[in-house]
Amino acid sequence: ASVRELLLSRIRDVPDYPKPGVVFKDITPLLADPAAFTALTDFFAELCVEHGATKIAGLEARGFILAAPVAVRAGIGFVPVRKAGKLPGATLGQAYELEYGTAEIEIHAEDLSADDRVMVIDDVLATGGTAGASLELIRRAGAQVAGVAVLMELGFLPGRARLETVLRDAPLEAL
Ligand code: IMP
Repeated sequence: ASVRELLLSRIRDVPDYPKPGVVFKDITPLLADPAAFTALTDFFAELCVEHGATKIAGLEARGFILAAPVAVRAGIGFVPVRKAGKLPGATLGQAYELEYGTAEIEIHAEDLSADDRVMVIDDVLATGGTAGASLELIRRAGAQVAGVAVLMELGFLPGRARLETVLRDAPLEAL
């Protein structure tokens, strides 16, 4: 089977989580399967090389799990993008819209420099709010965006369209 089929077979649909009517894409079976986790890591690492990334930004919390081994595999640095109030140093923050209300994420500005090209990695692209805010943070920190790479894009939501303006010419790769 192709890598794509292997990975899809390791994603569990959990109905009515976290609330009624939502089908949650659960990646824990993929993480528990070393062949699948390694294949995904290799896939992301190749994208990072292809797009000339010098840093990888992982989005809290599942993005951390996926992005950290990619950084090691690709031989480039890892930068956490965290929910507001979790990073101890000097941060930049970016608020974004949720279905109800707003959320805010932060980055350590000093982790990025003008020479950096940053690949954002996460498990799921839904509305695109989280990834879009992370791209704003990367640019405000003075770095360039290499792209966004996600395991899954929920095609019934307008995530890709919402990201288009903030991506500019950078790619959105969804396996
Ligand atoms: P967005 O900001 O609406 O694109 O939501 C994306 C964020 O929510 C990502 O950080 C995902 O980890 C998380 N998320 C949304 N839906 C799912 C899901 O079905 N499974 C796992 N994570 C999800």
